[in-house]
Amino acid sequence: MTEPSRRLDPSHPDAKLAIEGLEQHFPVNTGLVSRVLNPGDQEHVHAVDGVSLTIRDGEAFGLAGESGCGKTTLGKTAIRLHEPTNGRIWFDGDEITDLDKAELMAFRREAQIIHQDPYQSLNPRWKVFNWVKEPLDIHGIGSAEERESKVYETLERAGLQPAQAYADEYPSELSGGERQRVGIARALVLDPSFLLADEPASMLDVSIRASLLDLFKELQAEFGLTAVYISHDLSLLKHICDRIGIMYAGKIVEVGTADDIINNPKHPYTKALVGSMPIIDPDVEREPVELSGEVPDLVEVPSQCRFYDRCPAAMPRCQDGEPPMYETADGHGHQARCVLYDETDTTDHELYN
Ligand code: SF4
Repeated sequence: MTEPSRRLDPSHPDAKLAIEGLEQHFPVNTGLVSRVLNPGDQEHVHAVDGVSLTIRDGEAFGLAGESGCGKTTLGKTAIRLHEPTNGRIWFDGDEITDLDKAELMAFRREAQIIHQDPYQSLNPRWKVFNWVKEPLDIHGIGSAEERESKVYETLERAGLQPAQAYADEYPSELSGGERQRVGIARALVLDPSFLLADEPASMLDVSIRASLLDLFKELQAEFGLTAVYISHDLSLLKHICDRIGIMYAGKIVEVGTADDIINNPKHPYTKALVGSMPIIDPDVEREPVELSGEVPDLVEVPSQCRFYDRCPAAMPRCQDGEPPMYETADGHGHQARCVLYDETDTTDHELYN
């Protein structure tokens, strides 16, 4: 089925990262004996199952969904940290799906990742200085003096001041927030134009989280970075993102501005996610939506809507096949993968609000 699409063409000057029909299928570990006896029967988990999306130059895009929905795999595949099973990827208008080793190395300077767990991602035996300098060494950038001053300059950019004092520390001597800033400095030292931040604040205290999110905003504004933030926490994404995509069982099921997603969600799954967000403003009323049932098996992917077994608005038509993304009446690119928004459907069903 062809999906209606108002996404930017990958060659559009405003398109930073574009993916088309991206799939990431991992083989299921069935054991050696089974693989030898049934060599043609290798099963696969459809972790990312046909995702098309365009991230605009300079925007902050949030990717949300429950644990295991495929959001981290999608992010990593889109910047070629995983080899895609199928689909195509463009960056700054150039296709990067089949880059060779040297081209991939050059691309790495442009697109960097910030990992979820700052402690796990830092070598405890390295001082901060070495940790931040390593990408410059790997890419052979600058003289020894230039690398040194670049490390100090980048530590300052990441809010670690005085930089010389931090450069001399070991990870164990830093707080969680400081370690995450070291991870940010390591990602920024190559002057990338694109950042993928995977649950960047999930290991941090609430008090530190706010200052880190402010740092991301400042960096994006100051250096014109494009960023994709992956998080299960919609309230975090609401704070820093221009647009948000909601993932469910390997597919994007809704995409729109952060305001539309939080204040006017359309897909029943997004409504459930938004309904479970903590409400800080006493004037805001929100109907909690309870979800029952299980996420579908991603080895034997259902042919119907993937959310069918858990959907409070499910109807017979939802079993006819996987719904495409429909443009919602909100316009400005707000789309939902749900037959409730199929304007060509004249069946008399209640609109689920
Ligand atoms: Fe629910 Fe049907 Fe929409 Fe799927 S297509 S989300 S089952 S109403």
